[in-house]
Amino acid sequence: MSALLSIRDLHLNYGQFAALHGMDIDIDAGEIVAVIGANGAGKSSLIRGICGTEGDAKGSITLDGRELLGLTPPDIVHAGIGLVPEGRRIFPSLSVEENILLGGQLGQLHGKDPWTLERIYELFPDLVPKRHISGTMLSGGQQQMIAIARALMTNPRVLLCDEISLGLAPTIIGRLYEQLIKLASEGLAILVVEQAMRKALEISDRYYCLLEGHVSLSGASDEADETRVAQAYFGR
Ligand code: ATP
Repeated sequence: MSALLSIRDLHLNYGQFAALHGMDIDIDAGEIVAVIGANGAGKSSLIRGICGTEGDAKGSITLDGRELLGLTPPDIVHAGIGLVPEGRRIFPSLSVEENILLGGQLGQLHGKDPWTLERIYELFPDLVPKRHISGTMLSGGQQQMIAIARALMTNPRVLLCDEISLGLAPTIIGRLYEQLIKLASEGLAILVVEQAMRKALEISDRYYCLLEGHVSLSGASDEADETRVAQAYFGR
């Protein structure tokens, strides 16, 4: 049986430059999988490969058996991949609620329980009193909640989170990750891309360490030997 999201022999080139050299990654429903790696290791390229947004990708990426490689980015969202992009990308001319509702225009219902504004505000009650002000007026942590909410409104089966902890205080990161753990316990498959190795291991079920465009180490996060992971991370 293959995993819900199964990535096999993924190569990704930017013109002549090869950024990914044959990557194998699996994510199942209800799992949090961390992809860790230093600057330039290939984390964002992996996300771009899955979302079909940039680069020339080869190999196979299947979601519940359906090949995603070759689909357009909107069709990939429609198929069930939700993206929380690096840097959040909140639209300043739109209110918090309008930013969140944008996601609903892209997705399609998978399963019985569609995401609604009501469910979003239950998950992120901090957003309720701010729903009508510009999304960029909120704190960094709250803007990250908007970005997660917008991705959830596409009703994803797999949520990709690109460096959501960047620039946030540890307590805020802890709160965001608590929400991701809750979402995984409800059956969502979550891939978190992080530079912060220790934090990523703490909150994930399994991890893949990337180095120069390949997987240098992988395994169960609670069995990870920090020295070995650090060697795989830095290539020493
Ligand atoms: P960071 O944490 O700095 O974002 P990363 O692990 O996400 O790093 P990538 O952004 O995937 O790494 O970059 C992997 C390699 O691909 C790097 O050598 C980078 O310079 C190169 N690269 C990334 N984007 C492009 C692009 N659009 N065109 C050419 N090369 C690129």
